[in-house]
Amino acid sequence: MNTPRFFAAFGKGDFIKYQGKRLGFWDVIGSGITPYGYIYSLAYQHAVFPDPTIPLFGDCGAWTYRKQDTPTLFQDIVDAQWAIRSYQKRLHPNQETYVTAPDHILFANLSRCQREARREFNWINAHNFFKLAKTQLPHTTPVAVAHGLSISERIRAALDLVELGYKLIGLGGLATIGNVSHALTIIQTVANQLPRSTSLHIFGLCAPRYAKAFAQLPRVYSFDGSTHIREAFQGNFLQTVEDKLVRHRTEKERITIPLCHCYPCRHLKKLGIEPRCCNTRPNNLGRVVHNLKSLVTAQRNAQTNRQILLIAGVAKKLNYKAPAIELYCSPLFKATRRYADATANEFYLLSALHGVVHPQQILEPYECNPYKLSPFQRRAWCNKVINQLRAIAPLGAEFVILGGRQYYAGIIEPLEAAQLYTVTIPLAGLAIGRKLHWLKVNTPSFRQLSLGL
Ligand SMILES: [Zn+2]
Repeated sequence: MNTPRFFAAFGKGDFIKYQGKRLGFWDVIGSGITPYGYIYSLAYQHAVFPDPTIPLFGDCGAWTYRKQDTPTLFQDIVDAQWAIRSYQKRLHPNQETYVTAPDHILFANLSRCQREARREFNWINAHNFFKLAKTQLPHTTPVAVAHGLSISERIRAALDLVELGYKLIGLGGLATIGNVSHALTIIQTVANQLPRSTSLHIFGLCAPRYAKAFAQLPRVYSFDGSTHIREAFQGNFLQTVEDKLVRHRTEKERITIPLCHCYPCRHLKKLGIEPRCCNTRPNNLGRVVHNLKSLVTAQRNAQTNRQILLIAGVAKKLNYKAPAIELYCSPLFKATRRYADATANEFYLLSALHGVVHPQQILEPYECNPYKLSPFQRRAWCNKVINQLRAIAPLGAEFVILGGRQYYAGIIEPLEAAQLYTVTIPLAGLAIGRKLHWLKVNTPSFRQLSLGL
């Protein structure tokens, strides 16, 4: 599955002051789930900039000069040469960077003459920018935006940009459409018309439902957005619930939102910042970082491969403690383990004694025959496993269980109740020889590849 890269917007004054230092969002968000990189606009002089390890996406700020016939920023005329100089000032040669050619947004209410002028501006600047970027910003990926008042005009513009040499084509102005399926139809239609070697960057759409859809469209390379900033300054504190965002309203003088345990919130608390209150700029900026963490977490939940493989333990074990994945050692278990290693994104073990076990969890050898549990013990085991699975799996996940009947009877129905999860038992009812055969046939073999090396 394609995982598109999310670039989070940051503004010119977006920093948190601490002991004389200016901290950017990237300094406060912590590790783990973070945006892939950050996007900035040449329309602003930024007070802080990410260090060279963080990928950066530069944009010309077309929205800022959308009402001008001749685009200007800081009293300079915006053209390809100006954009190259402006990017050069901001970039580090070792940084992964994307730079957008100057563009001018097309609006339906412009006069015919104005529209024609903007189309010409877009083509000439894309042309000049690509040539200049090749020599003057050789370490960057140039991007050009395909504008159009109709889908067919966008497709024509995109194909013209591909002909100029662009591999990454931007699509913008989709946020104002306000209709998810219409926006996705435009993206998919344009993507289908482009050659295989090119990809798309989607400007301004970053809701988790878009992140999920982009992951299923093979040509979307990246996307960006500023939801975290806009919502924070409107006083909204975003909370991740599975793959969705829930809004809490902040108040000026009192805290009405439950304590958040996300990394930014814990970290900000030490700096004396309270993101759940909207009375000061530091608190508002703290909320931006919290919102960003919630946004990227919800995006990730929406994109996660939701199939989780569960492998049953076996009686034959090592006689010393070991990671669970190594403790069990029957031929059937070893074949199952090879299958899991080769095919599963995520898997856990089912132990008759411990319930759900992470493959690397260290276990002592134990005796526990699942066929000899009393009905009471079985019910207790099933309840424990169901609770453990609910804790690790996002709603909607599919569990694939490889193991005997004693490892799935009693857990399928509660898991599938209310259609929260689905359960698949691919080897149900097969004798051991047939199971081994199925595992062998369905485990991709790497032998042929390594022979040629
Ligand atoms: Zn938080």
